[in-house]
Amino acid sequence: MSIQKVPEKNSVFFVWLNQYAGILLKTPSKTIAIDPVDVKVKSLQNVDAILITHEHYDHLDPRLITEIQKATDCIVIADSASTKKLQYTIPVDKLQEAKPGDELKIGAVKVNVEKCNHAAKAPVTYIVTSEDDVKVYHTADSLPFPELALMGQNEKFDMVFCTVGISPGASAQKGFEIAWLTKPQLAVPYHTASISSQAEFAELLKKELSRTACLIPEQNKIYQVSKRK
Ligand SMILES: [Zn+2]
Repeated sequence: MSIQKVPEKNSVFFVWLNQYAGILLKTPSKTIAIDPVDVKVKSLQNVDAILITHEHYDHLDPRLITEIQKATDCIVIADSASTKKLQYTIPVDKLQEAKPGDELKIGAVKVNVEKCNHAAKAPVTYIVTSEDDVKVYHTADSLPFPELALMGQNEKFDMVFCTVGISPGASAQKGFEIAWLTKPQLAVPYHTASISSQAEFAELLKKELSRTACLIPEQNKIYQVSKRK
């Protein structure tokens, strides 16, 4: 899934790559793949960076990451446990360990590493801020946690990805709680193979958080999201 067009100013493109947390994000200057699994190497030809949130099979495929890195010479940013698994196949100057609190740069795109409420070794979540300040929060398959409320206030997210299934404890309700805490302009239910969980998430938003719009994504389709006014 490569995105040929360049997003307009103050916008980003995104594509949902699989039934998990696989997201391709394109800002005006950079293309970033987050947790890509179940995708073809040649469909991610133009990536500048890969971000990995944790070592579980539905987020990290070391062989795939190695092949994409070879083909593109991109940088790989990963949580500590995934970094360990990638250290023998990714060149040392291309592999960056990510810990909560870190602020990293991909050119003019900023990546803030945050905690993650998920039963993995050292899971993280990522706030990606585009060069024209579009704020996207990729929450991996985190369950809600209290700090999200303050992050939402401080960051004023344009888009937050919310897990609604295929993970211990995950549900439409828990995904909704992430949206409710972070209060983005746009909430996107993902990490599910169930249309009904996504629909339930949308209903909860409509009832309880009407100022946050819901986008139920189709896989492999390109969406443009603009900065809130
Ligand atoms: Zn997962």
